[in-house]
Amino acid sequence: MAHIRFNALDIVQKRTTERIEAPSNKISEYFQTDVFSLDQMKAALAPDVFKKVNHAIDKGKRIDMDMADQIASAVKSWAMTKGVTHYTHWFQPLTGATAEKHDSFFNAKKGIEVFEGSMLVQQEPDASSFPNGGLRTTFEARGYTAWDPSSPIFVWGRTLCIPTIFVSYTGESLDHKAPLLKAVEAVDKAATKVVQLFDRNVVKVSASLGVEQEYFVIDKALYSARPDLMLSGRTLFGHNPARGQQLDDHYFGAIPSRIYNYMKDFEIESLKLGIPVSTRHNEVAPSQFEVAPLFEDINVATDHNSLMMDVMKRVAERHDLQVLFHEKPFAGLNGSGKHNNWSLLTNTGVNLFQPSNSARENLLFLVFLVNTIKAVADNGDLLRASIASAGNDHRLGANEAPPAIMSVFIGSELTAVLNELEEKGNIKIDKGDNMYMKLGIDKIPNIIMDNTDRNRTSPFAFTGNKFEFRAVGSDQNVAQPMAVLNLIMAEQLTEFHKAVKKEMDKGTDKKIAIVNILRQYIKESKKVRFEGDGYSEEWANEAEKRGLPNIKNTPRAIEAFVSKKSKDLFLRHKVMTPQELEARNEIYLENYMMKIQIESRLMGDIALNQIIPTAVKYQNTLAQNAKNLSDLNLDNSEIVKNIQLISGYTKDLRTLVHEMIEKRKELNEIEDHQERTNKYCDEVKEAYFDKIRYAVDKLELYVDDELWPLPKYRELLFLR
Ligand code: ADP
Ligand code: MG
Repeated sequence: MAHIRFNALDIVQKRTTERIEAPSNKISEYFQTDVFSLDQMKAALAPDVFKKVNHAIDKGKRIDMDMADQIASAVKSWAMTKGVTHYTHWFQPLTGATAEKHDSFFNAKKGIEVFEGSMLVQQEPDASSFPNGGLRTTFEARGYTAWDPSSPIFVWGRTLCIPTIFVSYTGESLDHKAPLLKAVEAVDKAATKVVQLFDRNVVKVSASLGVEQEYFVIDKALYSARPDLMLSGRTLFGHNPARGQQLDDHYFGAIPSRIYNYMKDFEIESLKLGIPVSTRHNEVAPSQFEVAPLFEDINVATDHNSLMMDVMKRVAERHDLQVLFHEKPFAGLNGSGKHNNWSLLTNTGVNLFQPSNSARENLLFLVFLVNTIKAVADNGDLLRASIASAGNDHRLGANEAPPAIMSVFIGSELTAVLNELEEKGNIKIDKGDNMYMKLGIDKIPNIIMDNTDRNRTSPFAFTGNKFEFRAVGSDQNVAQPMAVLNLIMAEQLTEFHKAVKKEMDKGTDKKIAIVNILRQYIKESKKVRFEGDGYSEEWANEAEKRGLPNIKNTPRAIEAFVSKKSKDLFLRHKVMTPQELEARNEIYLENYMMKIQIESRLMGDIALNQIIPTAVKYQNTLAQNAKNLSDLNLDNSEIVKNIQLISGYTKDLRTLVHEMIEKRKELNEIEDHQERTNKYCDEVKEAYFDKIRYAVDKLELYVDDELWPLPKYRELLFLR
């Protein structure tokens, strides 16, 4: 059995790496070459059509069929010059992966290549095969994908890909993208109204996103010898290697050449697709890395993150590597996340989270800063729900990742500013006074980035001119946390605007009204601000005193989506209906339960089929040895002890696995989804996984290395 492992090790030793060269030293020469960009569209369309299309895209308006026909024809001509034969609507269903259904341009009846406006605008994949949370009964299992013109069309391989949203026949969202687009619209509306208190020229506020993506890369052959990695994305067993990340020598270290070539390769492919990748480096754990593109409009950045993950998976194959996006592929080592850098920008080019030298502009900055803090303070439960997954549960609160407690870090300087503003609460401001000076908000340094970026333990940190949501899982579609963030911000800004107006109606000066309300918010949201070590136990205790929730697992966390408060909120801003939220909750519960079920089955299979037989084999060798020693009248007590140890762990393992199987059978009878999922979490995962793993990892330590069937951590992590 161990021959698979040794075969893999052999293959890895013999690997060579091919040097990857970019098509040009100038990225500008190949950036976006596989994208039907606005420039391409402009060149291909009649000027008046282009103007109309551009306007429709900008304003999120409908594109009529006549326009669609002209665009489709231009897209087809462009695509065919690139050797493209098929097209697909590209979408992000709730499975977590991206989805495609390829159709040929070739129309056999007409005998020519055809691509019409209607094919661009709408397609009908069979929705019954995608998760829908019971939104539709199977006999009306129709869903359709609808073109999202705000995200550019691209060519991937020989296929034209059209970014779309995926909805049911009756209009309910079945994907990650539709709610995001709606939340972005809501935050635009609310933020624009608030900014207009300061500047009437602003007519649009858009959200920006830059996603830092962490990942592991290991050799394909070793990966293939680990059924747990292949089927569940993480190692369910594996004794800690003598050397892990304790030397801290991997972070920012020299990138190993095989990985370097892989990175270069997927970066080139990404750049061609218009994904502006710019940063690459080693991460903390061995074999862990990070890639980050420049920030973009949130909708495009979201598509680009999903697309880049696809590109990374496919390019890895060319290098005989396997990329791991799971949040915790290796126990005992750092997990992976996605830092979501988020800000709000006006159509006049102002970043609303950028402190400035001008006191007046700083009031606007404080409005957005304080409202964000307040939004998180009031909706920590929803933010927590938005990042809940079986994988991320291993990471949140595991001493190396942000805890499951949602708190905000803003740095000492801004803390001082907010404290001063709060304390000077009763200062009277007279006509002719410099209000900003009196309140101590006249001197917020323009650049505070260096001071704010030091705390890496916070799940939600202000980093100079943006907020960084760091608790997002590495394997997750960012659309959901970003939809929630923009939604709660929309709600908060709407409330703020109302409150200011109300004060103003009473005759209060606008600026004073704003400051008064900010002060009130600072007080009310103080509990969510935390500047210390988020990984520490003291923080968990302190947070409990402050009444902040610390929800450790997914089934409990996602309940927040279906609370009355959440349903009202989503409905008020037209992001999702209560039915859509219920459906999603159902899908996530099911998904979580199935993931635990798969892991549990895998543990059982590997233990019974691979680990126990290996242990028994080694035990027999030892028994023979003990017998030989005793035949020679020599002391064999050490060997006997060893045999007892191994048989002890083997027995534990067998018992635990059988108990766990029985437990699963019992739980599978439970009708209620929430209850069944909760129990899978508590009575399968929590009750058995660590215990089973403990026994296996001990056996790994005691059994002869030559017999051990699974590639070990030191091999997975250090060979490349
Ligand atoms: P760090 O690792 O220090 O957090 P990186 O440079 O790796 O920083 O990543 C920062 C990310 O934040 C990049 O994607 C960058 O483009 C993005 N970013 C910078 N400014 C903004 C902004 N105003 N809004 C959104 N994202 C931003
Ligand atoms: Mg970061």
